[in-house]
Amino acid sequence: MNEIQPYTSKNMSFKRFRPLRKDAQTRDLLVEVQLSPEDFILPYFVVEGKGIRNEIGSLKDVYHLSVDSILKEIEEPIKLGINKFLLFGVVEDFRKDETGSFSTSPENPVNKAIQEIKKVYPAITIITDVCLCAYTSHGHCGVLVGEQVENDKTLPILAEMALSNAKAGANIIAPSAMMDGQVWAIRQLLDKNGFTGVKILSYSAKYSSGLYGPFRGAANSKPAFGDRKTYQMDYRVASQAIEEMEADLDEGADYLMVKPAHTYLDIISKAHTKYPEVTLAAYHVSGEYMMLKSAALAGIVEEKHAVLEVFTAIRRAGANWIISYYAPFVAKLLKS
Ligand SMILES: [Zn+2]
Repeated sequence: MNEIQPYTSKNMSFKRFRPLRKDAQTRDLLVEVQLSPEDFILPYFVVEGKGIRNEIGSLKDVYHLSVDSILKEIEEPIKLGINKFLLFGVVEDFRKDETGSFSTSPENPVNKAIQEIKKVYPAITIITDVCLCAYTSHGHCGVLVGEQVENDKTLPILAEMALSNAKAGANIIAPSAMMDGQVWAIRQLLDKNGFTGVKILSYSAKYSSGLYGPFRGAANSKPAFGDRKTYQMDYRVASQAIEEMEADLDEGADYLMVKPAHTYLDIISKAHTKYPEVTLAAYHVSGEYMMLKSAALAGIVEEKHAVLEVFTAIRRAGANWIISYYAPFVAKLLKS
């Protein structure tokens, strides 16, 4: 038998990594990224009515909730340590019009939900998604002229929507329409009305993605014609993500976002490297959620293991906050 000699190139023996992984205790000592329930933002889809808790066909284990149902639903995640919630309004067709005017009404389900949640849980952070697509009859994110989404005509309505959320008690406004200047328009109107303390989390790098399908079912916001490629970003381009972020920070954004997350880890990493001091959120979107969920249900992956791995990867890439339908599932795993 020949004895294997140590590798001696440059007078060194080869490097041994396996001792770093030799047992659970050693591996735990070397952990660099650890998830916590406070990293997560849990989205809710708010509907009008009473006693409603209907599972959304396209999103397993996610529900349409009326305001009273949210107050029950939110108890458990809060107990698990989740302290940030993102609200989306979902309204019946008769509420919708060309300009999405119900989005600015104090009577819409999001504004009612904020008020009720804040009465019971004043210390919880409420974030609102500010976009018109759930409120327009055509399902586009802005006001139309012909078949074109008109950027500058959309800005005042987005700002009014944000103001109505701030008046209801929202802590953070998250504009997602991808209209140029939306952060600036919102910041100005909030400040003018005394809401200087309300923060802005901008969907800065929001890509036109094939992974939003299940969400459109959930929010009843599918465009009646065309697509969103004239305002959402082209996934073949990385450089515009940083330019969009630069512009949003200039306009007054406090926090930035990359959407989707799992398939855009390179963008998250670039953003974190460029702005290490800015809180960065990543949205693990409906299609990413359902890919994991479906694979788990089909027995293709072990859900607990795969989910922890995916979310750790998103944090490792540089995201501080992760918006995810999996938030309660992860928080439960972390507790056990
Ligand atoms: Zn939209």
